[in-house]
Amino acid sequence: MKKALVWIRRSLRLHDHTALSYATNNFDEVYVGFVFDTHILKKLDDKKDHRITFIHDTLDNLNKRLENGGVYVMYGKPEDHIVQLAKDLEVDAVITHKDYELYAQKRDEKVESKLKKENIEFKRFKDHVIFEAEEVRTGSGDFYKVFTPYKNTWFSKIKENPDVLSERKVDISKITYKRVKGYTSDLSLSDIGFERTEKEREYSPDYKKLLKSFNQVKDEYNKKRDYPAVRGTSKLSAYLRFGQVSVRELMRKNWPYENEGEEIWLSELAWRDFYFGLLKTFPHIEKFAYNDKYENIPWINNKDHFKKWCEGKTGVPIVDAGMRELNQTGWMHNRVRMIVASYLTKILIIDWRWGEEYFAKKLIDFDLAANNGGWQWSASTGCDAAPYFRVFNPYRQSERFDKNCEYILKYVPEVKNLPPKYIHEPTKITQKVQDDNNFKWGEDYPKPLVDYSERRKEVIQIFKDAPYE
Ligand SMILES: Cc1cc2nc3c(=O)[nH]c(=O)nc-3n(C[C@H](O)[C@H](O)[C@H](O)COP(=O)(O)OP(=O)(O)OC[C@H]3O[C@@H](n4cnc5c(N)ncnc54)[C@H](O)[C@@H]3O)c2cc1C
Repeated sequence: MKKALVWIRRSLRLHDHTALSYATNNFDEVYVGFVFDTHILKKLDDKKDHRITFIHDTLDNLNKRLENGGVYVMYGKPEDHIVQLAKDLEVDAVITHKDYELYAQKRDEKVESKLKKENIEFKRFKDHVIFEAEEVRTGSGDFYKVFTPYKNTWFSKIKENPDVLSERKVDISKITYKRVKGYTSDLSLSDIGFERTEKEREYSPDYKKLLKSFNQVKDEYNKKRDYPAVRGTSKLSAYLRFGQVSVRELMRKNWPYENEGEEIWLSELAWRDFYFGLLKTFPHIEKFAYNDKYENIPWINNKDHFKKWCEGKTGVPIVDAGMRELNQTGWMHNRVRMIVASYLTKILIIDWRWGEEYFAKKLIDFDLAANNGGWQWSASTGCDAAPYFRVFNPYRQSERFDKNCEYILKYVPEVKNLPPKYIHEPTKITQKVQDDNNFKWGEDYPKPLVDYSERRKEVIQIFKDAPYE
């Protein structure tokens, strides 16, 4: 009787799953395990972390669906627990999916070498991406440094071999569970030192409703995706991050694409692969600028400004709305992520790593590769990034993408008495406007921390003068 343990990490589902598919097709008995990794958990200072609640509820959901078994849920160091469980269950192999972050790769190497000593095989499958870094290459065999040609090759490779999207079927009946001393399938949040997040921040493990509602608007993704007040994007990022949904499944539903909306949406999944590939190929970008010319930018790094940015009190309504959305819901619309990131790095002139870290703490969909990519893109330090001289004007962005101020007013109700013109750009407010609208600028809502036009000039000069030694 051949037995395997499937270690789930980012692929928290039971369908279309490369590791589970391989295991249930090649082994007689299959066990499933998950470790709440203390290396990751100890960095979370908010004990009401919506991601932990989300993972916990997802595991609960998987347990309910597994009639013959359940998931072994552990807490500690994976290199200890996975190896011990594999020994206790007397499995022949531990099977998992690949993870492209540096920490994860090192962790897997440790697990592999410990398992080897026990004569247990360790197998890793691609699951989280359509193509890995090594699969989409330029003619000379390098990783692409520009997204558009990367994306074109990515699409042509799918056309050449659509099987890359096919479902990896799982035979759930092979999944089983046996009592092992010291292990449980039912670890509560308090067992791991966390508390449940508030109801309004809860994410249901069932992504299907979201997918269904996105299908109604998907064909217009190209037209609607930039407007934070309308439902123009899928909101599936957290489900992709933790793998409740399979990226192949999403691709299959839209392949071959039939209109521009679908094409552009699939390109976002290509961006996702691009950033995983970039991080895998250039692991130093986790800490340093991709473009080393911009590594030593003399950031101003005013701590008070940073605090106000985090709290959504910069005095720029579209920026404040974005930060408040993040703080209240754990998610932020992509257009607004770009606006707030640009404002932090280009106008407050604060190191992109500060913003990246704050997002990492707060985002339900936090993913090192995409977050680092998004921040380095916005700060102009990244690969195929926004050119440094193209500084987002938050007032124009606000007028263009939230014309009727619906998004802003959801999160910044203090400015609701003002006519839209001043909500977009409070710096235009005169005393008369304040008197007419019963609004005290600086009291009811803060004045901007800095002068946009001056800072814009300053930052362009700073980047022009790079590199700094
Ligand atoms: C500063 C900054 C930080 C970001 N941090 C993250 C992060 O930590 N995690 C994350 O998943 N995305 C991040 N993004 C990318 C993007 O904002 C989110 O993926 C998107 O807003 C999620 O919403 P959605 O699911 O409705 O996306 P949709 O528009 O429906 O896109 C579908 C999926 O494609 C992927 N995707 C879309 N845009 C990007 C992108 N630019 N880069 C990589 N993948 C993308 C996501 O998985 C997304 O769910 C960041 C962007 C910026 C500018």
